[in-house]
Amino acid sequence: MSSINILIDKCVGCGLCVSACPFGAIKIENKKAVILENCTLCGSCVSKCNLNAIELKKEEVKKVDTSKYKGVWVFAEQKNGNIEKVVLELLGEARKLASDLKTDVSAVLLGENLDEAEKELIAYGADYVYSIDDASLSKYNDESYSDILSELINNYNPDIFLFGATSYGRSLAPRIASRLNTGLTADCTILEIDSEKKILLQTRPAFGGNLMATIVCPNHRPQMATVRPKVMKAMEPDYSRKGEVIKPSVNIPCCTRVKILDVCTFPSEDLNLEEAEIIVAAGRGIGDSKNMKLIEELAEVLHAKIGASRAVVDEGWIDYSHQVGQTGKTVSPKFYFACGISGAIQHTAGISSSDVIIAINKDPDAPIFKIANFGIVGDIEKILPILINKFKEKSA
Ligand SMILES: Cc1cc2nc3c(=O)[nH]c(=O)nc-3n(C[C@H](O)[C@H](O)[C@H](O)COP(=O)(O)OP(=O)(O)OC[C@H]3O[C@@H](n4cnc5c(N)ncnc54)[C@H](O)[C@@H]3O)c2cc1C
Ligand code: SF4
Ligand code: SF4
Repeated sequence: MSSINILIDKCVGCGLCVSACPFGAIKIENKKAVILENCTLCGSCVSKCNLNAIELKKEEVKKVDTSKYKGVWVFAEQKNGNIEKVVLELLGEARKLASDLKTDVSAVLLGENLDEAEKELIAYGADYVYSIDDASLSKYNDESYSDILSELINNYNPDIFLFGATSYGRSLAPRIASRLNTGLTADCTILEIDSEKKILLQTRPAFGGNLMATIVCPNHRPQMATVRPKVMKAMEPDYSRKGEVIKPSVNIPCCTRVKILDVCTFPSEDLNLEEAEIIVAAGRGIGDSKNMKLIEELAEVLHAKIGASRAVVDEGWIDYSHQVGQTGKTVSPKFYFACGISGAIQHTAGISSSDVIIAINKDPDAPIFKIANFGIVGDIEKILPILINKFKEKSA
């Protein structure tokens, strides 16, 4: 284990290290520096101490033999035998990565009655489908799914393993990564292969979207990443594509601590904002929950779905399932109406793939106007009724 120590004999309590620590993890007590529990062992303080009074002992990284890991795998999440769209998008991306690495793409499918799903995965780019068809796997279960996937990884040694950043993918991927002692990058927006080192470059927004961080996993395998729906593009399906379905022999856990008795779909889950062609989104600028009526009316006349900024969700004016942005949904409609939304980076991170953004805001300097294709400067309470009437007239 890595460790950090203050060499008490050398420390004079000057405090230089305190201001150097980005995590506030050092304090001065009795004229000596003390490292606190929230120290991340980042090492920033070490070079700041002119008296060499901070000693950081780094554990030697145990590298795996990466040469025996091959292939790009995609977790083929399904519900009732229907493959999630994000899986098809990941297969499209996996094909590009595999082509750079001159390797194969495999989908890993767990569930029951999987014949149709297997064909679909091949049509969308899988060369191999590892298919585990068992009644006990028909509903997602963290324990059995992570047991089986870990066993498959240990048996087949994939180089890269991609998951959709769905509720299931976000629960499953870290369990497997920690079990196999490998790295995982969440919510990647760009995946590429380093042409020299042949490793996966996993890029994702960091620090609230203010910069893009590229993360690598050089010493452990598989290299694991989650990707949100709608970020990557699926290939056109080709049902004449040839692929192989492999039925591996694995231990299917007979008893898990968690028993899935039933799966209930909340109405909000049917919202499917990611697929909407038109979205009318409400921001705090609507001023009051009663003005959600205007948003609903405009959405109705346009046959649109309703989105919202986090501020509106936090106010309790709408359910979280409508939230768009970094911690909400990534959408790519043809038309996105941003009504009273300032255009914070955490919101715009979720709408940048929209074809046309129409912003309504009373502040002409609101950042949303920088990315909007059309802007209306004015009060929501005045503009929305005009738009509603105009669109009603048009549709009539
Ligand atoms: C880690 C993190 C993750 C986040 N994730 C998300 C996320 O996923 N999605 C998200 O949306 N936010 C997210 N946020 C919050 C984000 O930073 C902003 O605070 C939020 O997007 C602001 O919402 P808003 O634009 O509705 O409100 P505000 O920023 O308050 O903007 C309101 C806008 O309405 C305008 N306005 C006011 N009155 C009127 C009126 N009468 N008529 C017309 N315009 C009017 C104002 O000029 C202003 O531009 C996140 C923040 C953090 C730190
Ligand atoms: S910078 Fe060095 S000498 Fe100064 S308080 Fe920190 S550890 Fe002690
Ligand atoms: S190692 Fe990093 S987190 Fe720990 S005390 Fe030093 S600067 Fe702070």
